[in-house]
Amino acid sequence: MSLFLEEALAIEDKLVSIRRKIHTNPELAYHEEDTAELVGEWLGRLGISVTTHVGGTGVVGVLKGPKAGRVVALRADMDALPLQEASDISFRSRKEGVMHACGHDAHIAMLLGAAMILAKHRDELRGTVKFLFQPAEEAAEMGGGALPMIEAGVLRNPKVDYVFGLHIFANYPSRTFALRPGPLMAASCTFKIRILGRGGHGSSPHQTVDPVFITAQLITALQGIRSRMVDPVEPSVVSVCSVHSGTRNNIIPDDAVLEGTVRTVNDATKAKIASLIRGISDSVCKAFGARCEVEIKDAYPVTVNDPGVEADVSKLLKSIPGTRTVEVPPLLVAEDFSFYLREVPGTYYFLGTRNEKKGCVGPNHSTRFKIDERVMKYGSASLALLAFEFTGRGVR
Ligand SMILES: [Zn+2]
Ligand SMILES: [Zn+2]
Repeated sequence: MSLFLEEALAIEDKLVSIRRKIHTNPELAYHEEDTAELVGEWLGRLGISVTTHVGGTGVVGVLKGPKAGRVVALRADMDALPLQEASDISFRSRKEGVMHACGHDAHIAMLLGAAMILAKHRDELRGTVKFLFQPAEEAAEMGGGALPMIEAGVLRNPKVDYVFGLHIFANYPSRTFALRPGPLMAASCTFKIRILGRGGHGSSPHQTVDPVFITAQLITALQGIRSRMVDPVEPSVVSVCSVHSGTRNNIIPDDAVLEGTVRTVNDATKAKIASLIRGISDSVCKAFGARCEVEIKDAYPVTVNDPGVEADVSKLLKSIPGTRTVEVPPLLVAEDFSFYLREVPGTYYFLGTRNEKKGCVGPNHSTRFKIDERVMKYGSASLALLAFEFTGRGVR
């Protein structure tokens, strides 16, 4: 294994410069045009066949070895988030209100790094490696970017046998790989509640049905689901994450809109929470004379690692010098990588990037998110290793 790590170390400067270039020019879901162009150019330069505009702005590279073997897909997501970066790094986002705050810039660099390593070993490769650069992972409200890629046929022709994905994560220390067999991440649902009141003058609330006041009651009531109505040892979350209403200080508005997310790891709990959100929203609104419209949509399913594949992945990760591999409990984040894992066995794993000494402490999805770039070489080496070993899995 140390060979792939040595090769990753040799291209470390390239990984950092690719990541920084993408970081300065973040692109939101389905607008990853410059990013896709950069990916396509790199793959082309490596002699890897490239297809662009797959499932929207996705890019697929195919590297075929001379010997027969399995087909392994490696996936990186490419989209950024609608956040204003709050750090003073030299390569900070040049786009107002858009930021790579989940590390997808590093995912692209790490997967390109794996492609560089594997392209060097093309003559020894058994089977085929597909590089999936996917749009729109963050856009759960749009259904994400994985399904359109799958619908475009990325898991067919040739049929993919194993799929792997990697995520940078500030929850774990630098150079730590974290994963588990079975369910790794939650299913997510999005909800949108529109409270229909009746506006009027701020001085005369009795002549109105005040949706702002009702919003306050409803947010509190919804927290009763998790704390009072669902088994406390069952993992679940109900979060209201956006509230919009009103225009100025003395006008009671007509309506208010709340949006949020639900996370669960089993279907019965998910159904129960959805029905409680509807019931509580109706009752609270009715109690104060308002009506409401509730929309609840399934976003991503549970991300389930194949136990047999995961066991081999863990073993391989443990062989990478300078890293640590740990088994973690399920997390309530959600990922559209789950859609690939419903079709093909594989494993999703995290690479820790928290490094207090370097000030890399802000969590993913925060304006202060900062990654320890020196971990990227381990990510590239791990992806190259999984592709190399799994293309030869069970092949003589
Ligand atoms: Zn994210
Ligand atoms: Zn992410």
